[in-house]
Amino acid sequence: MPFRPRYTGLIAKYKDRLPINDDTRLISLGEGNTPLIRLNNIPRDLGKDVDIYVKYEGLNPTGSFKDRGMTMAVTKAVDEGSKAIICASTGNTSASAAAYAARAGIKAFVLIPDGKIAMGKLAQAIMHGAEVIQIAGNFDDGMRIVKEIADHAPVTIVNSVNPYRLQGQKTAAFEIVEELERAPDYHCLPVGNAGNITAHWIGYCEYSGRGDECLTEACALCHGHCRYASAVVGNRPVMVGYQAHGANPFIRGEMVDDPDTVATAIRIGHPQSWKQAWAASKESGGWFDECSDQEILQAQLLLASREGVFCEPASATSLAGAMRDIRSGRIPEGSTVVCTLTGHGLKDPDVAIRQAGDAISTIPATLDAVKKAILDKL
Ligand SMILES: *Cc1c(COP(=O)(O)O)cnc(C)c1O
Repeated sequence: MPFRPRYTGLIAKYKDRLPINDDTRLISLGEGNTPLIRLNNIPRDLGKDVDIYVKYEGLNPTGSFKDRGMTMAVTKAVDEGSKAIICASTGNTSASAAAYAARAGIKAFVLIPDGKIAMGKLAQAIMHGAEVIQIAGNFDDGMRIVKEIADHAPVTIVNSVNPYRLQGQKTAAFEIVEELERAPDYHCLPVGNAGNITAHWIGYCEYSGRGDECLTEACALCHGHCRYASAVVGNRPVMVGYQAHGANPFIRGEMVDDPDTVATAIRIGHPQSWKQAWAASKESGGWFDECSDQEILQAQLLLASREGVFCEPASATSLAGAMRDIRSGRIPEGSTVVCTLTGHGLKDPDVAIRQAGDAISTIPATLDAVKKAILDKL
């Protein structure tokens, strides 16, 4: 065949590894298949012999990894006859839910925290026609209400407490293993609700081992009998989760009631996948740590200015933490490290422009003035 078959999304690609039937109508926007970019300049600047790759999940259809879970959650909701979905969101889940509901022709209700959502994400929810419900509370308040509402109205929850979300998200680990032809030594992620770190661990476990046994207690679906386990590679990564200093329940070892951070996507104090993420961490020999808002923003700027990769603040938490652990040797030289960049930088232009400060000034519209401006900077 002269051409490769058209890529039509991660459910179509990994159908035999997902809880899906042959005749299920797939609700897809071509999500997944995101680039794994090897960093050039940052490892050199660090002066350490490490291979750092970033998995650029911001290139999913709505600009975040949430699309991997949402294609599964909405496909299953429609398959089961649901006419409406609902979620609480710090922004990206609502953007994704709104888009996939539009695609499916069903209704989406999204609960967002008052004032603490990035502009790009709000614009998406509105444009895709979701019913946006803004609450005078934070994400954790919204999550509590959404979990109760499903008992009172015929709506399907598409937050990551929906087990199909994690099933879709585990495919990111498959893609990484297939590209590297092994699992990385360390996999670093930003952690909010802790669904994504759990999903990646499930994916790595299914692609390793003997191929006939369940290797993790993080998976809520298989109950010890993994239908999808197969011996693709022999190794699994150490899973490292980084949180923002002001929203750090995994570092404190207890829930946080007033989470606060510039990284709004991980401004979460009561993570929903608490137990599963601890299982992933312990089984992999990993750890949790925290980064200050300043470290997060510095890593975001470094990625954009030194590597040409623009992610949103929360996403940069993975690299901020990884760089610190590489410098200290906790992640040793010779390692292959993958950092997930969970969302696109354009989601939150306000924070990016605030970082630039007064870097831009106006000059006269003359050849002389522009020539001087250029020569001054060369
Ligand atoms: C949702 C989200 C996270 C956090 O993922 P969890 O699965 O909740 O831990 C991190 N970064 C971005 C950009 C997100 O949208």
